[in-house]
Amino acid sequence: MDYSSDDFANLFSLFNIDQVLRVSVETEEQLHLLASLEEDEFLQLDFWLHPVSSDLPVDVRVPFASLQTVKVFLESNDIPYSVMIKDVQDLLDEEEAEMEADIVRSRTSKSFNFGAYHTLDTIYQWMDILVADHQNLVTKIQIGSSYENRPIYVLKFSTGENRPAIWIDSGIHSREWVSQATGVWTANKIATDYGQDASLTSLLGKMDIFLLIVTNPDGYAYSHTNDRMWRKTRSRNAGSICRGVDPNRNWDAGFGGPGASRNPCSDAYHGPSAHSEVEVQSVVNFVKSHGNFKSFISIHAYSQLLMYPYGYSCTDVPDSRELDTVGRSAVRALSTLYGTRYKVGSICKIIYQASGGSIDWSYNLGIKYSFAFELRDTGRYGFLLPANQIIPTASETWLALKNIMEYVGDHPY
Ligand SMILES: [Zn+2]
Repeated sequence: MDYSSDDFANLFSLFNIDQVLRVSVETEEQLHLLASLEEDEFLQLDFWLHPVSSDLPVDVRVPFASLQTVKVFLESNDIPYSVMIKDVQDLLDEEEAEMEADIVRSRTSKSFNFGAYHTLDTIYQWMDILVADHQNLVTKIQIGSSYENRPIYVLKFSTGENRPAIWIDSGIHSREWVSQATGVWTANKIATDYGQDASLTSLLGKMDIFLLIVTNPDGYAYSHTNDRMWRKTRSRNAGSICRGVDPNRNWDAGFGGPGASRNPCSDAYHGPSAHSEVEVQSVVNFVKSHGNFKSFISIHAYSQLLMYPYGYSCTDVPDSRELDTVGRSAVRALSTLYGTRYKVGSICKIIYQASGGSIDWSYNLGIKYSFAFELRDTGRYGFLLPANQIIPTASETWLALKNIMEYVGDHPY
């Protein structure tokens, strides 16, 4: 029998199917068993949702080479699981094909496609167009440079001097692409709705909005060029071949505590010291020197959650009742568009104890209205959310953001 090279290609891909499994942990013992899998570096597992509580699902991307081992392990321990993504490469191929189609489209069309994922360069070029088109409202500020020396840009929306302000950042975890895409859409929404939407116009009459779209530019670039699943920064770690620090375990808020790893190869590595990552330090310096932020909102994906401090401790913050009320009102507004359901709670209680997170730091700095979003979805596509969900996701999220910002504007403190 003759084999063409195509047959070999098919054969090869057959033996290269990575899957994402959703594991339903029912007992503490099963939780410990799963945690032991996570420790096994040989299996090369990529936990999208970590085994932390028997109330929550665990999503794990399993490389083909480990698939059999993991499935046998789960079955022999009576741990139920389902296949959430049958072939990760399929979704990656679709995503890439859509990005390529968008690049072709952009050669003939001048309009920017908000319903597509874009590279860092494209996002940065688009920022300059936005600033040029809305000079009375938008300015671009470089707040620092990344480890690999890429500029870190914040967009400032302002109509007056010395105003209190709202901070929004997206993309601190690079692989959460719908986060950066929502940041882009949101910047455009603010710019185009100013003067049209009464509530936003009134808000911008008394407050500024600062929006950092690509908080982790090195990681984002790397997620396009090398590894779509890259989450961390790209800094070198002394004494390790593994690179990068989890920039959302690196803040000076319970730094190094539970829910962060001391292993430089872990996706949750907290780094050698608090604010060791220049991307984090740049935000810290900027927010501190500004000194008048009233709200700090950080946008992640996925799980459909709106969370408030703390992550590093399950103790209620003094403002937890008010933050809970504000959060519930925001997700109610969000759900009016497509019925998308969000859960609300403190990070520690709603997902798990996680130390060194940005909104714990901002809250402890005195920025009361500190929130973190986990956008769509709940795991069907996870980090590989199809581009046709970008605009719906950003549109519904905007309703929640606006709801929070209106509240903050009405409650000076
Ligand atoms: Zn994240």
